Amino acid sequence: MTSVSLPDPVVLRTGPPRVDVRALERALRERAGGEVRFDAGSRGAYSTDASNYRQIPIGVVVPRTVDDAVQAIAVCREHGAPVVSRGGGTSLAGQACNVAVVIDWSKYCHGLVSVDLAAKTCVIEPGIVLDELNAQLAPHRLMFVPKPATHDHCTLGGMIGNNSCGATAHAYGKTVDNLVRLEVLTYDGERFWAGPTSDEEYAAIMRPAAAGP
Ligand SMILES: Cc1cc2nc3c(=O)[nH]c(=O)nc-3n(C[C@H](O)[C@H](O)[C@H](O)COP(=O)(O)OP(=O)(O)OC[C@H]3O[C@@H](n4cnc5c(N)ncnc54)[C@H](O)[C@@H]3O)c2cc1C
Repeated sequence: MTSVSLPDPVVLRTGPPRVDVRALERALRERAGGEVRFDAGSRGAYSTDASNYRQIPIGVVVPRTVDDAVQAIAVCREHGAPVVSRGGGTSLAGQACNVAVVIDWSKYCHGLVSVDLAAKTCVIEPGIVLDELNAQLAPHRLMFVPKPATHDHCTLGGMIGNNSCGATAHAYGKTVDNLVRLEVLTYDGERFWAGPTSDEEYAAIMRPAAAGP
C-alpha cells in the first residue's frame, strides 16, 4: 500500500461586490419595470438552484418585458453590480446563483412570439418552459426536440445557457444544434442578433468598406 499526497484544495474567497445596494435598489425601482425584490425572503429563495451551492444574491429583478430587463441591466452596469440570468433554476452546478442581481425571466418573459411554418422555426422569449412551448407548437405539428429530464420546468433561456440535451439528443442533437439566431444583450448594453450571415447580408455589410473612406 503506497500513500499519495494530494495537493491542497484551492479555495477562492471573494468579498462581496462593492455596490451601494440601497442606491441600486432605488434606481431599479425608478427605472426598471417589473418586480424589484431586495427583501431577505426573496434573496433567500433565489440563493440556490438544483445544485448544492448557495450564494445570497444582492437582489432580484423580475422583468415584465424584455425591455424592462434591458433597463435593469443598464442600471446594474451603472452601479457596478454583477448580474446573473435565471430560468427554471434547475441547473446542477450553481449556474443560476451568484452574489449578483438575479434577473428571473421565467415569470413574465415567456411568450411564443411567432411561428414560421414554412421554415419550421419560431421566435420565443427566453423564459418559456419547454413543455409549454411544445404544447403551443403541437397544433402546427412542430416541436423543439432537445428534452432534458426537467422539461416541465426548464426554460429555453436556461437550455441555451447550459446547451441542454437529454434523451432525444442522439436523434436530434443538443440545444445548440436547434438554434437559428439569438438576440444577444451584453452587460455593456450592446443588443444585436447573432446567427448565420447570408451572402446578400455579407455583401451589404462589406459594401461601405469596399467603397473606401
Ligand atoms: C433532476 C434533473 C435532471 C436533469 N436532466 C437533464 C438532462 O436530461 N439533460 C440536460 O441537459 N440537463 C439536465 N438537467 C440540468 C437542467 O435541468 C437543464 O440544463 C435545464 O435545461 C436548465 O434550464 P433552466 O431554465 O432551469 O436554467 P437555469 O438553471 O435557470 O439557468 C441555466 C443557465 O442559463 C443561464 N440563463 C438562463 N436564462 C438566461 C437568459 N435569458 N439569458 C442568458 N442566460 C440565461 C443561467 O444564468 C445559467 O447559467 C437536469 C437537472 C435536474 C435537477
